[in-house]
Amino acid sequence: MSARDIDLSRVAVHTITTKPWSIETAVERYAAKGFGGITVWRDTLEGRELPAVRKRIADAGLASVALVRGGFFCHADEAAREKSDADNRKAIDEAAGIGASMVVLVCGALTTQPLERSREQIREGIERALPHAEKQGVKLAIEPLHPMYADDRSAVNTLRQANDLCAYFRSPYVGVAVDVYHLWWDPDLEAEVARCGENGWLHAFHVCDWRTPTRDLLLDRGLMGEGCIPVRKIRSWVEKAGFDGYNEVEIFSKEAWEGDQDEWLDRIARASLEHV
Ligand code: ZN
Repeated sequence: MSARDIDLSRVAVHTITTKPWSIETAVERYAAKGFGGITVWRDTLEGRELPAVRKRIADAGLASVALVRGGFFCHADEAAREKSDADNRKAIDEAAGIGASMVVLVCGALTTQPLERSREQIREGIERALPHAEKQGVKLAIEPLHPMYADDRSAVNTLRQANDLCAYFRSPYVGVAVDVYHLWWDPDLEAEVARCGENGWLHAFHVCDWRTPTRDLLLDRGLMGEGCIPVRKIRSWVEKAGFDGYNEVEIFSKEAWEGDQDEWLDRIARASLEHV
């Protein structure tokens, strides 16, 4: 099955993609370019009133897709875990405040403890965050990260692991953010995307590309079409699995951030139409 053509109204941009811009500039430029939605990174909310941000996004005609990010559930001591629980409740409140339906979770990992322990802490952390998420009507989207980040960013590295967590909770408030950057290499991806969709867990779809060589493990993601990820094929899988949400462009690129952001957004728009 091949993916049908998309238009920009089905594409959302993560504010981190245009990191030099304030939330106000991002909202204005994304809407002017014809994108349909915005996913807000928490750093852009600093010093802002949430209702004002919510209104600005709505008035611009954009959908407030998600808030990034919560999680980081792995800690060596109870005080640190309590602090992170409080921060997760705050992230959920911020998502509700800007009208976003979900918080994306980067689950965390610690080099000083076994991955198995981190995975237990992740399950426990989601368990503790869930009542507040339900109360606020905000979904939690577990984002499995590429295994190169298993040391200190996430002990959830495959879609199967994320699906297994969803199966454990069986809650409409616990689902998955499928990011092609993290998952494109997985031989089980198509089957796990199908499982994710069938069960109603497929909450988000993030796109970018994998550059070769990757010059920086964090800040050198590619624009769709620049690398080796079959973005359109993976989109066809998520749509076949029932996903009808936004294609969210999420690109951390030091190189792009150093250039002109309006030109960068033009390139993102073209790449979204040609390669997503
Ligand atoms: Zn992502």
